[in-house]
Amino acid sequence: MTTSLEPTVPVAAVLGVGDELLLGATVDTNGSWLAAGLSDLGFRICRRVQVGDSEAVIAGALEELLREADVVVVTGGLGPTPDDRTRDAVARFLGRPLEPHAQVLADLEARYRARGMEGVPPMARSMALVPAGARVLPNPRGAAPGLALDTPRGGLVVLLPGIPSEMRELFLEEVRPFLLARFEGRLRPLLQRVLHTTGIPESLLAESVQRAFPQGMGGVSVAFLPDLQGVRVRLVVRPDEEGKGEEELDRVADTLAGVLAGHLYTSPSGDLAEALGTALKARGATLAVAESCTGGLVCRRLTDWPGSSEYFLGGVVAYSNQAKRSLLGVGADLLEEKGAVSREVAEEMARGVAWRFGASVGIGITGIAGPGGGTDEKPVGTVWIAGWWQGEVRARRERFGGGRHEVRERAAQSALHLVYRWMEESGGKGRG
Ligand code: AMP
Ligand code: MG
Repeated sequence: MTTSLEPTVPVAAVLGVGDELLLGATVDTNGSWLAAGLSDLGFRICRRVQVGDSEAVIAGALEELLREADVVVVTGGLGPTPDDRTRDAVARFLGRPLEPHAQVLADLEARYRARGMEGVPPMARSMALVPAGARVLPNPRGAAPGLALDTPRGGLVVLLPGIPSEMRELFLEEVRPFLLARFEGRLRPLLQRVLHTTGIPESLLAESVQRAFPQGMGGVSVAFLPDLQGVRVRLVVRPDEEGKGEEELDRVADTLAGVLAGHLYTSPSGDLAEALGTALKARGATLAVAESCTGGLVCRRLTDWPGSSEYFLGGVVAYSNQAKRSLLGVGADLLEEKGAVSREVAEEMARGVAWRFGASVGIGITGIAGPGGGTDEKPVGTVWIAGWWQGEVRARRERFGGGRHEVRERAAQSALHLVYRWMEESGGKGRG
């Protein structure tokens, strides 16, 4: 079982140092980048931590992280200024003296002379101080080198500069090969599979998944990642031997494909507009879109994709009733009797836009994005979405939560989904 092997997988932690990180003035992009890089290598990431520029706090964090982690990668606080405390903190924590390092000093000399300076400014000399026994990782992009230090209990501490471009190059050129060699045979990169769903709330989705796997998923862990487009279901397995994890992922993904049919879509980018484009193209179908409350969002998402001219003919933003009448042929009586936000008007918009553009498929969207304009009968978030496909219509009423932005984004996604699902249900061939 994968879980029983988990303890032998090397464990890594990432520590970001800097007051600016604590205060939120700088986003800890180093931390996320390093965590992804270490995870890709095959480490299990146990923790990511940020601390301020204080020797005691840095040492405390290291102490704690090293109880669990085989490797702690630290970024920040290696610069020349007095607020850069990482070098001192680590030397003191490991009980090693800081010693001038001849090669680092020579590199610094060359670096400053190349810039026309007399030599290394006194304050910058601190960057040539290295805890005794540390391995120096040369930094071609900057002054402060990286350092790798073994701890008495067999852990490894890697120090990298905070500047993201320097940190990345050092990690890729120096740290990565070093870690690969050191942990050879134990690293187990995660295998992942992402299923894209839309039109089903996270809690209902999770319940369906739970029902499908009453005994759990074995070594596969699952995460539900919601956003305005839907919920991504991320399946992760750490394989115990070559190829084994793929089979487990296949098994879980196949079961979920059955359980979640009707909510799943297939798209390499995760964008449903791409998936719909592929589906339209496969059937030789063409699409036109009439939008009211979404104001062109659906058209924009479709045309974000290169090659969309093969299946997308055009669209109309018909915001006013007058525009719905004159540009799409929606009946004045209908608008009067049913209201602009109604099944009948959405259907007429879909039919009208398909007919006017000569498209085989039409979409019509009309709703109340808010914050004003809602009534008891049609509250803010009410959206009618209709599809027309060569003589047949389908419509659905949505009641989205959230503000104006959320309602519009969700309405656009729902409209794409209505037609996508219709295409998928019709099978591979269907009508053009
Ligand atoms: P330092 O190495 O602490 O002198 O940091 C140098 C620069 O790198 C500063 O401008 C920091 O804002 C930036 N920096 C430090 N740590 C991080 C981090 N974790 N993520 C992104 N940028 C950082
Ligand atoms: Mg700093």
